Amino acid sequence: AIHPDWLRIRADFPVLTREVHGKPLVYLDSANTSQKPLPVIRAVDAFYREHNANVSRAMHALGAEATDAYEGARRKLAAFVNVGADELVLTPGTTFALNLVAYSWALPRLQEGDTILLTRMEHHANIVPWQLVAQRNGARIRVVELTPEGALDLDDLRRKLTPDVKLLAVTHVSNVLGTVNPVAEICREARRCGVITVVDGSQALPHRPVDIAAIGCDFYAFTGHKMLGPTGTGALWGRREHLKAMPPFLGGGEMIREVRFEQTVFNDPPHKFEAGTPNIAGVVGLGAAVDYLYEIGMGHIEAREQALLAHANARLAEIPGLRVFGNAPGKAAVISFLVEGAHAHDLATLLDLEGVAVRAGHHCAHPLMAHLGVPATCRASLAFWNTHAEIDHFAAAIGRCRKLLA
Ligand code: PMP
Repeated sequence: AIHPDWLRIRADFPVLTREVHGKPLVYLDSANTSQKPLPVIRAVDAFYREHNANVSRAMHALGAEATDAYEGARRKLAAFVNVGADELVLTPGTTFALNLVAYSWALPRLQEGDTILLTRMEHHANIVPWQLVAQRNGARIRVVELTPEGALDLDDLRRKLTPDVKLLAVTHVSNVLGTVNPVAEICREARRCGVITVVDGSQALPHRPVDIAAIGCDFYAFTGHKMLGPTGTGALWGRREHLKAMPPFLGGGEMIREVRFEQTVFNDPPHKFEAGTPNIAGVVGLGAAVDYLYEIGMGHIEAREQALLAHANARLAEIPGLRVFGNAPGKAAVISFLVEGAHAHDLATLLDLEGVAVRAGHHCAHPLMAHLGVPATCRASLAFWNTHAEIDHFAAAIGRCRKLLA
């Protein structure tokens, strides 16, 4: 295989040439949102310059072009994750996608005595919708715990897959620990117990090849802005039979076939779940992001990020008092850490002055933070465009900050 030229690829990201506080930007916050390459920026720009119109309702040329571009992006996205385009509902992101499953699938189906199984490492987006639904239909929530390395405790999972469990929602990759969960195995076990599975792919899709059909889940949610696409884009994949049986989440235009005041006939999936004018330009940009990722190759991206992670682990191990949270085997390039004697927010603020962008806080995972016994961590999340030199700068900067804070 020909190895990608990572420095040439890096040059596709205009923002990476910026300085902050007089220092070259070292962007280590991709798990929060990814930066965007020129082909994505250009696709959004070209849509508004040349093709802008609403989708699915105009009879004129621009309307047809916009619809083709929008549906073309859906097909690209579907092929990228190996599912049918008619099963891929375009949403404003993961949060919307998970709420769609919660309200359209779980709310009318679960009742008192039923259990929703979650895991300790879920993002709030994969906790709160289930709580809201459980409050209304009387279901209860149970939680699968973690091993000391931050992997999912699969024995605990098996113990908790009791007959009352109707739905299991699990993240593919943890946004805090970097843990990559064996979702195919988990979904197989759940399916054997008749449990519907929902996988949060937010942190997986940007960093590794994902074949949703091979995972064997019932629903898979992801967000576009972490995979080089514009904000306000994403998708929910659902099995055809589920999407057919589920009532709409939101009502409005585009999701109907015929509206009479006595009764409305809904459109077929996925359109049944796409009420109102969608984020057309954003979705077109996400299509360009998929082309871009496809051209580099997700296998290459995964290998590149694993190499950067190994380098970062080695450099961080040299820093006294630095503790990393999460070291499950095969973890993704997400590094949550603390330095003894330094508060996460102080450290992140000083790193920012050095040009290094990391996130500090609870990372929308309060229950996980409580489990780790810390209110906050710093998190450096890597992407393929990062360099070994940037990681050296990051490690050296932590060393300097540590002395300032000691
Ligand atoms: N799940 C995980 C694991 C995430 O990392 C995120 C984003 N931080 C979300 C869900 C929510 O994604 P969005 O805000 O794009 O809806």
